[in-house]
Amino acid sequence: MAEPDWLEDAARHLWLPYAQMQTAPAPLPAVRTEGSVIHLADGRELVDGVASWWTACHGYNHPDLLTAVETQLWRMPHVMLGGLVHEPAARLAARLAKLLPGDLDHVFFVDSGSVAVEVALKMALQYWINKGVAGKRRFLSFRFGYHGDTSGAMAVCDPDEGMHSLFAGYVTPQLITDLPRGAEAQAAFETFLAAHKHELAAVVMEPLIQGAGGMKFHDPADLRAIAEAARRQDVLLIVDEIFTGFGRTGSMFAIDQASIVPDIVTVGKALTGGILTLAAAVARGPVYEAFLGDDPGRALMHGPTFMGNALACAAANASLDLFEREPRLAEVAAIADQLTRELEPCHSLPGVTDVRVRGAVGVVEMAQMADPARLRQRFADLGVWIRPFGNIIYLAPAFTIRPAQLSRLTTAIHDVIKDSRP
Ligand SMILES: *Cc1c(COP(=O)(O)O)cnc(C)c1O
Repeated sequence: MAEPDWLEDAARHLWLPYAQMQTAPAPLPAVRTEGSVIHLADGRELVDGVASWWTACHGYNHPDLLTAVETQLWRMPHVMLGGLVHEPAARLAARLAKLLPGDLDHVFFVDSGSVAVEVALKMALQYWINKGVAGKRRFLSFRFGYHGDTSGAMAVCDPDEGMHSLFAGYVTPQLITDLPRGAEAQAAFETFLAAHKHELAAVVMEPLIQGAGGMKFHDPADLRAIAEAARRQDVLLIVDEIFTGFGRTGSMFAIDQASIVPDIVTVGKALTGGILTLAAAVARGPVYEAFLGDDPGRALMHGPTFMGNALACAAANASLDLFEREPRLAEVAAIADQLTRELEPCHSLPGVTDVRVRGAVGVVEMAQMADPARLRQRFADLGVWIRPFGNIIYLAPAFTIRPAQLSRLTTAIHDVIKDSRP
């Protein structure tokens, strides 16, 4: 099949993410999606192991999502949320408030995950200012954390991955420590927190799985201990559920497994079922109330142009309908079982240092991985879409992936490691 005529334009004009444009292999031209399959222009089909950066939780082109967006499209694709409101946003805010635990009731919509994190950071800073507490203007976050690529979010990412040294002087230095696992580390963490509480607005973390920073897991007990330490030390807790939210770790939200109610939660990625860009920062009652008063200066001065986009909210409502109507969490549990079973043999392959599974996330960690780009190429040659990074090969598929498709992914991982000794 001939190459599409727009591929030339892509090569000349598209600046692609996380890519050294001089040496990166040519990107593959995608022309159609269906379920867990991406169709390429040359007729090849790839089984998608990463659900387009963990967004397409119901698979691609789910008819319910498409219908919801199409219906909304003809009625009202978008109106500004400044001074106007609409049903898709109002219903979605109420549903998120109901799904999230405790009094996480106040939903601020934005257009992407990074911006949700920016808003959460701003909420936390201004919370203390509005309370009349001076000096709490920094954040504590964890090594291997990832919270987005905008400058505020970057500052709370892993310092190496976030290239803090490159952007020194621009990215505000924050406190970054190891994520405490187990009683001893927790005690040391709380001592550290107590020493810095006077300058800390909030602790920022991903719950149960640190995603883009290396798919590192921690236990619900650790998450809970961090939340309790933050509360005791009078530091807000921002939990970033942008990757973990909507079933990925086995429960609707990862925080459900630790029975905690953070002060602010961010959601994004799978919020719309992966078809439109939408995210939110959701605040507890006391955070929201700190912004109320006669003084306009106490208000949250933030408002992305496309916040609460009606198409995106319609997609998100349809996605939540699917979570109610279809057995998504049972599917995640089945995926976890199958991943555990089928990735286990990777343990004995040379160079593999760890194999781990939590919810619909399976990880094979290597001692080292010299050339992730070459591995990606090999996976594509095998008809699977898998994107190794750092020293890990991982799967985070759609929850609707068929068992046979998932087996193709796990088999490909096993075979590529076995053959290529990366
Ligand atoms: C992807 C991600 C973000 C950033 O979201 P974008 O929509 O890419 O800006 C933030 N936090 C976590 C945990 C993420 O996985």
